[in-house]
Amino acid sequence: MKIGLLTFPEFNNDFKHKLEPSVLYVASKRQQDSNIFLYDNLPSDDIDIYLASIYTVGFDEFKLFSKKVGNEKIIAGGYHSTAEPFETHKYAKIVIKGLSSGVEDYFEKDVEGIFDGQFQPININRNLFDIKVNKQAHPDILPSDIIGSINIGIGCQFGCGFCITPMMSKRKVYFKNDLLIKQDIDDLKLRNCNVLFIRDENFTAHENLPAICSLIKAGDFKVVYSFATANSITKENIKILKDAGWHSLCIGAEYPSLKLKKNNNFDKAIELCNKYDIGYALSYIVNDSKSIEDVEIQFNLIKESAFKYMPIKLSINFLKPFPGTKIYNSYKDKLNGMSYSDFYLDYPLFSNEKNKCNNLLISTLLDYYYSSKYSYLRKFDCNDSLHLSIIDQSLHIIQ
Ligand code: SF4
Repeated sequence: MKIGLLTFPEFNNDFKHKLEPSVLYVASKRQQDSNIFLYDNLPSDDIDIYLASIYTVGFDEFKLFSKKVGNEKIIAGGYHSTAEPFETHKYAKIVIKGLSSGVEDYFEKDVEGIFDGQFQPININRNLFDIKVNKQAHPDILPSDIIGSINIGIGCQFGCGFCITPMMSKRKVYFKNDLLIKQDIDDLKLRNCNVLFIRDENFTAHENLPAICSLIKAGDFKVVYSFATANSITKENIKILKDAGWHSLCIGAEYPSLKLKKNNNFDKAIELCNKYDIGYALSYIVNDSKSIEDVEIQFNLIKESAFKYMPIKLSINFLKPFPGTKIYNSYKDKLNGMSYSDFYLDYPLFSNEKNKCNNLLISTLLDYYYSSKYSYLRKFDCNDSLHLSIIDQSLHIIQ
């Protein structure tokens, strides 16, 4: 059989961040099958089955695709399929909820419906993908660098109300063994990858961090960075990361005023990163509000917090109550009449002053990166992927 793997929205869209798509995990492992990853989601008559990973922002696009190729050929999974399986089932013969492995079991079966997925520790199939197309805006990554990403564990044990990750793994974290991790790193080195991003939601919480970090250190990457939650950043962990050559940690600061369990050690975590000279990227969320004055107040709070902590990278996102999050139900009525495409990043969903909000976002970032305080921290104008992406965003200020 010929298997087409796709992601919605299509991989070749204008999203700025691109990494190996997770649908590559479910490529068929059967000898008799051939797999192809469809960067542009163009259907083809010779494809027998489409494996579609669907994000909420891509659901409208997925519906159009399904009308073209027919439900019978589609097995759907991913975030939106898990959050809204009945809605997805109208457009796909089979819907798999949660982490999905062993999808091949459904190929020859005469079944249709909604099924629970299961986790099997496997590596991504990069033979179907050109990692040179990976892109991430991050300090010190140059356009000529080759970025690879890996997952060592999948899932998250926290349950932050705005986040869709816990839904996929039911708040469990599943790990790969050391052999699989080593094979994944070797695979990236064979592809001349020199930048490694570890995608685990809470990498610093791993119990066998020393063993994992020594495998990563052996990969000798120019830049290694990962996510972390503040409450798992301890002196012991930060020393292990330092020894493994860590460049930086991406920490969700979220709302400056909100106390989240995962951030109960925030100031201490930042202090440790500074002490051991590990960079940190902080991402903040602007809560939804119709009033521009309220949005301005939130941006001011974020700015104040950013200048207090001085991250090497500052990210700001507008809250999106995605299906599958805890907060979704309280927003359901407000979402009536909206399209899933409205969940596109960088714009607030409910504000009547979307352009003003977007301008506030860009001007806050520019104020931060071009401040004298940031220039003491590092040189911003250095043509790395962070600098280039901010320049690109600044072209979108609406006068
Ligand atoms: S810690 Fe991060 S990944 Fe986990 S639920 Fe909270 S925001 Fe989501």
